[in-house]
Amino acid sequence: MATPTFTLNNGVEIPAIGLGVYQSAPDETAAAVEAALRTGYRHIDTAAAYRNERQVGEGIRASGIDRAEIFIETKVWVSDFGYDETLHAFEKATRKLGVDQLDLLILHQPAPSRWEKTVAAYKALETLLADGRVRSIGVSNFKPEHLANLADATDVVPAVNQIELHPYSAQRATQVADAERGILTQAWSPIGGITFYPGWGEQRRNVMEDPALAAIAGAHGKTAAQVMLRWHLQQGRSAIPKSTNPARIAENFDIFDFELDDAQLAQIDALDTDRRSGPDPDVERAEMFDMPIAED
Ligand code: NAP
Repeated sequence: MATPTFTLNNGVEIPAIGLGVYQSAPDETAAAVEAALRTGYRHIDTAAAYRNERQVGEGIRASGIDRAEIFIETKVWVSDFGYDETLHAFEKATRKLGVDQLDLLILHQPAPSRWEKTVAAYKALETLLADGRVRSIGVSNFKPEHLANLADATDVVPAVNQIELHPYSAQRATQVADAERGILTQAWSPIGGITFYPGWGEQRRNVMEDPALAAIAGAHGKTAAQVMLRWHLQQGRSAIPKSTNPARIAENFDIFDFELDDAQLAQIDALDTDRRSGPDPDVERAEMFDMPIAED
């Protein structure tokens, strides 16, 4: 079965569900990508900063699936912001992935203290788009005010804004701003991974263990992860769940045969705490800029 897709603001189709590979160890990434593609996924989300673009490319080639059928998304890290630097970041990414063109290239996050460099990086994405090197461009972790400031300084509306988004952190203001601008909201940590990353503090509440999700899941004979992914799909968001486990990779894709009703969607919406679990994009850490991205 073909994956349902969303249509981006420039007409490009993006599969509704993709595989995320943040914290996928390099030696596990190629196998996870290959397993996902064999399961039916046609979209992979990686990033220069994840240091596994090479293994994503290996997994794609090992799958034997035609490159043209696969939607490849990657991100420019902040240490590569600036016009020439970002053009070069594209060269590094495509070299590692082993492809000529990217389906979606996004800025990993804003760098508010280096805003001119953020804008220059986005202008480089616009050039890559005009030259046909990428099929669509976008941003990640942009708040409404970042989107407004970007719109004042650039021409192309981002196709996608990838943000932390799971039942405990719905980021409604950003979802509204995205929708008003015609930007597709893409959920990172779509099944709440950031609420249970090991070593991130024990006091966080794990969304995967939420009783309301368990009840809805039980009613459908599905899991909490599948219910969360279905919630994204029905509300029109792209989602990129990460797993390196073949059974969970398959589970996260087995969401096209059931439907949440309005009451269930509202129950999940009501879990929002209006607080992010991940870092605030306006709070910068010096080490972010001291992380060079390797040439190959
Ligand atoms: P996530 O996809 O919500 O959750 C991943 C975690 O859930 C992993 O620990 C995974 O472990 C586990 N898991 C996966 N499927 C499961 C299932 N069916 N049942 C139980 N546990 C399951 O979190 P994420 O990795 O933070 O986010 C997904 C992707 O978003 C990332 O991989 C990355 O591509 C992107 N992302 C982007 C940003 C950004 O700043 N733009 C930040 C974070 C993430 P196993 O691997 O062992 O299954």
